[in-house]
Amino acid sequence: MDCNRCDEEAVMHAAYSGAHLCADHFRESVEKRVRRRVRRDDLVPKDATPENPQTWVIGLSGGKDSVVLTQILHETFAKDPRIELVGLTIHEGIEGYRDKSLDACVELSDDLDIRHEVVSYEDEFGIQMDDVVEDDPENMAACAYCGVFRRDILSRYADDLGADLLLTGHNLDDEAQTALMNFLEGDVEQIAKHFDASLGPLSEREQQEEFVPRAKPLRDVPEKEVALYAHLNDLPAHITECPHASEAYRGEIQQLLYELEENHPGTRHSILSGYEELAGITSDEFSGENGADLQDCTECGSTTTREVCRKCSLLEALV
Ligand code: SF4
Ligand SMILES: [Zn+2]
Ligand SMILES: [Zn+2]
Repeated sequence: MDCNRCDEEAVMHAAYSGAHLCADHFRESVEKRVRRRVRRDDLVPKDATPENPQTWVIGLSGGKDSVVLTQILHETFAKDPRIELVGLTIHEGIEGYRDKSLDACVELSDDLDIRHEVVSYEDEFGIQMDDVVEDDPENMAACAYCGVFRRDILSRYADDLGADLLLTGHNLDDEAQTALMNFLEGDVEQIAKHFDASLGPLSEREQQEEFVPRAKPLRDVPEKEVALYAHLNDLPAHITECPHASEAYRGEIQQLLYELEENHPGTRHSILSGYEELAGITSDEFSGENGADLQDCTECGSTTTREVCRKCSLLEALV
């Protein structure tokens, strides 16, 4: 089958749009979607100037998503002195997994010549995820611990690096799953928070000064297309899954979405666009209530809704 836009052989077919695209036109279409998302989410503020550049910290895990996001943002802003990119990699202490993906991160940041910072759970908290899984004092899934530690590092380092924005490589599949999970859990306030934390246009979010805003400019691109983009561009992405990956509910939702998408192409797009609209409305509805009871953790001083933050109480349980 030929590409819809030229005479080259198509390398992909997107059932949701009917498009058949050759490698070049496919790459162009992925890049266009990311740039459009950067514009629509108002990620570059009007007062950004070469004298007052914005620092964008990218959560660079070495998986295909964050690698593709970094590559595209680099190409987009390489000649734009208003934006400085920094890659931030977190080493959780997972044998045979993170070391290889860290190599991918180092290779990419060297290739692109961008600043790269590596932070480990070992250095920050004196723990390794492999040991946490063994101990499991709270009888929780590995990802529940890991997510708390990761969020703590991301927000602290984003602060230290002077980040104006924290970007992550969530793709369309990830975000459609999260949207559906939030719907099914029936937690409307959570949906409002999702909008304010990472989804809405920056100018429309109710933002809290304590937190660096987040953005997910890859969320219009399906997972398979992210993988194909990484492959066609020969990007150093690490594919192996974390051996502790254990979000069982997300797995069920993922399966459900595969089937729906197969029978009704475009389902992921419509879930996410409807969800975002609804999230914007609920964010307005909850406006003013956000963060009413934030305080400083008495142990580490980070911003939390409790006396001792979740990270400190987990660390306490782990010693
Ligand atoms: S899959 Fe879970 S345990 Fe593994 S790195 Fe991700 S959050 Fe951590
Ligand atoms: Zn073409
Ligand atoms: Zn704390």
